[in-house]
Amino acid sequence: MAVTLSSKAERPDDRPKRITVLGSTGSIGRNTLDLVARAPDRFRVCALTAWNNVDILVEQARQFEPEFVAIGDEEKFDTLQDRLGESGIELAAGTDALVAAAELEVDWIMSAIVGAAGLEPTLAAVRQGAVVALANKECLVCAGQLILDEVRTHGSTLLPVDSEHNAIFQVYDFENPDSVERLILTASGGPFRTRSPDAMGDITPEQACDHPNWSMGAKISVDSATMMNKGLEVIEAHHLFGLPDSQIEVLVHPQSVVHSLVAYKDGSVLAQLGTPDMRTPISFTLAWPERMASPSQRLDLAALGRLDFEPPDPQRFPALRLAREALRSGGGAPVVLNAANEVAVDAFLQRRIGYLHIAEIVAYCLDRAPQSSVTSLADVRDIDAGARRLAAGRVDSRSQ
Ligand code: NAD
Ligand code: MG
Repeated sequence: MAVTLSSKAERPDDRPKRITVLGSTGSIGRNTLDLVARAPDRFRVCALTAWNNVDILVEQARQFEPEFVAIGDEEKFDTLQDRLGESGIELAAGTDALVAAAELEVDWIMSAIVGAAGLEPTLAAVRQGAVVALANKECLVCAGQLILDEVRTHGSTLLPVDSEHNAIFQVYDFENPDSVERLILTASGGPFRTRSPDAMGDITPEQACDHPNWSMGAKISVDSATMMNKGLEVIEAHHLFGLPDSQIEVLVHPQSVVHSLVAYKDGSVLAQLGTPDMRTPISFTLAWPERMASPSQRLDLAALGRLDFEPPDPQRFPALRLAREALRSGGGAPVVLNAANEVAVDAFLQRRIGYLHIAEIVAYCLDRAPQSSVTSLADVRDIDAGARRLAAGRVDSRSQ
């Protein structure tokens, strides 16, 4: 069983669940706190973290009065101190402070930092044995085996927040994993599903971030447009549910209502459905093993009328193939894939490279990065740094 279920969430009394939100100022972080604000008796916010968005972080700190607030960007510490110095909240800055936030003892931690930067805080969250709601898919892509080993060692519980993996978690037969034939991850196809391949070169960051169904942070929006997001999710599903690439199918479903499916060996296919609102999977992890009310719009299938499905187009979306190749290569290849993608997406958002360069840079790095194995966090960090240098060089040559 890849996802460890434990009785940790069954607290002995009715005291509020102590929670921490890593990446509280982002899209997932704000949706999490929206749910918490609607059920103030059930949750006590203990720590919040952000990279540099002081305004939102201060506002959240005033509203939820946590014990500890950490900001990653040390240059923002003075502003944080000026605005919250009198509050009695312990304040800290820097990447160590993000880890310290994850070490504060709580019942439940949302891991919603974007990118491989979330790896150390997520590992710290796992090591304290808490229930970890995992939105940060990049850390599983880079260090899936290391994280799962720590989950087992420390008896923590990993609950997937990503809507597809949350859907699978809800319909997966953990008692009889051998009965599972394959996983089917659905993908909206993003804003460019039907765009002519000839017109892909002109895509702007604004167009790439304008997702038809979901409102998300900039990086995952671009990943959804290139379908690298689905590639990262295939790797994420491999780690969470222990199946090889060949048993993880991707199906384009433009309405984003069927969030994913599990096909069993008797021919049954089980799915989880809902309107596209991350508050549904987040609330599932917040209340787990119970359920709580979520304000997400209710699904009206009759009004919707139809649900469409089609295979992904490999010409339009080469990133999906690159991710599958990285998963099959194993070792450091997924780390390279992720690091190169993070650098390329950032350069695209800064208008330094074009949309089509993103997958091209990832392919370039996968071809050239040395073959390597991953047995420790230090290995991940070395491979990640090497791939970032390689990708940055390629960005420079592309942006001149
Ligand atoms: P976002 O960009 O809106 O928010 C990211 C958060 O991480 C912010 O709080 C930001 O301050 C913090 N952060 C950014 N860089 C950091 C760094 N270097 N160190 C520490 N903190 C940093 O992103 P998001 O859309 O909320 O996504 C967060 C994670 O959840 C991503 O891994 C994404 O793939 C995953 N996810 C998001 C959605 C969604 O609907 N938004 C859905 C599924 C999975
Ligand atoms: Mg997803």
